[in-house]
Amino acid sequence: MKRWKNWAGNQRATPKAFHVPASESELVAIVKFAHAAKRRVKVVGSGHSFTAVAVADDILIDLRNYGEFIEVSADRTSVTVQSGIVLADLNERLHREGLAMPNLGDVTYQTIAGALSTSTHGTGQNRTGLAAQVVGFRLIAADGDVLQCASTENQEVFHVGRVGLGALGILSTISLRVVPAFQLQAIEQPMRVSDVLANINDLVESNDFFEFYWIPHTGWALTKRNNICDLPSDPPRRFAHWWNKIFMENIAFGALCYLGRLRPGLIPRLAKVLPSSGRVEYVNASYKIFASKRLVRFYEMEYSINRDSVREALERVMKLVDDEGLLLNFPVEVRFTASDDVSLSTSYGRSSAYIAVHVFKGMQYEPYFRAVEKIMMDYGGRPHWGKIHFQSAESLSSLYPEYQRFIEVRNRLDPEGVFTNDYLRRVLGR
Ligand SMILES: Cc1cc2nc3c(=O)[nH]c(=O)nc-3n(C[C@H](O)[C@H](O)[C@H](O)COP(=O)(O)OP(=O)(O)OC[C@H]3O[C@@H](n4cnc5c(N)ncnc54)[C@H](O)[C@@H]3O)c2cc1C
Repeated sequence: MKRWKNWAGNQRATPKAFHVPASESELVAIVKFAHAAKRRVKVVGSGHSFTAVAVADDILIDLRNYGEFIEVSADRTSVTVQSGIVLADLNERLHREGLAMPNLGDVTYQTIAGALSTSTHGTGQNRTGLAAQVVGFRLIAADGDVLQCASTENQEVFHVGRVGLGALGILSTISLRVVPAFQLQAIEQPMRVSDVLANINDLVESNDFFEFYWIPHTGWALTKRNNICDLPSDPPRRFAHWWNKIFMENIAFGALCYLGRLRPGLIPRLAKVLPSSGRVEYVNASYKIFASKRLVRFYEMEYSINRDSVREALERVMKLVDDEGLLLNFPVEVRFTASDDVSLSTSYGRSSAYIAVHVFKGMQYEPYFRAVEKIMMDYGGRPHWGKIHFQSAESLSSLYPEYQRFIEVRNRLDPEGVFTNDYLRRVLGR
């Protein structure tokens, strides 16, 4: 019997059947079988969701053999891929074609379908999350019918299906808008967090891609400004790169996390041991700058709120940490995206700020995450679908103006719940 667990190790499943199809027709056959036999099917991507969104308790489909790059459109504005392609492979292939994704999150281990399905995003005030870059897809519905969806065809399914939580069917192939490959100049610099917050609008508006990490128990934040440029690549030397990105951000940071888990009382002092090494500046291809390696495992919750509320909301989180004496050995990450029109996108209808809280794997997260969630609810916060949260259909339905529109399409495409699981029952009501 094959077992499955997610990257963080907090979600596990022992599916009754395990399939690794390599073609759309095999996918259709599995779905038709499940439909006729009244079984349930769940596709898993790379298992990088912290929630139980990908937990398969009956038939599990793994798309590791269904990740081919299919084609570049004649006008070179979009590409079509099989849904199991991993973002890292997609990026390399796009680069060889002289193309790039307009934006990315901070890792590329996910499959494209998994990333889209939970509303994965990066940062950049004028850039949307990944789902708004979708221009079409083929979806296998619960009865095995394959729907070709785009803004001109099966429009309603296309509209809501760009963030589908795996609840509408299986994404087979996906077409994505791409842009000509571009270079980024990255500047990473520690700043007092009070200065970051006092100048937040300037920082967000004067950089193409701005984000920062507040380091609890210190008054510091690490800021990251990435700007599009025409400069040739000037990456950090191999040793400097290894030192900053692998040793400091992963090995030394991981060691301090272990120590903090053993002796939580040391955490505030440990937080000051790893101050950033000062200003770092480099230039590289966009996809090499957006994403980095994450070797230290953690649990995460992330909320999207209206961008205008970010200062107040983060100050309340900082006060919470002080007032409750919380001992935190992971930074709080803050990012920004443009508004989009995807029904269950966390940025639907508003320019958004994202506040993400993390806890080292194996440490207690619930009191901290619940307290932060309570603050976020005061700002109409929407939880990332792939990251821990405590909401249910009742509360979520009022956070998304098009929630009901999504439910209607789901009722039509999967009336018997072939693609459901416990998580979807909780957030979608069945
Ligand atoms: C280290 C780390 C860093 C992260 N960084 C970011 C970040 O920068 N920004 C951000 O927004 N998120 C981030 N995430 C969250 C992550 O992007 C999402 O959880 C994403 O869904 C994971 O993709 P996956 O391929 O692992 O999918 P999984 O977690 O395996 O699955 C997610 C959902 O997609 C569905 N699915 C997968 N394939 C298909 C398909 N073909 N058809 C239909 N449904 C399908 C699954 O059924 C499930 O519902 C991060 C997570 C980790 C662990």
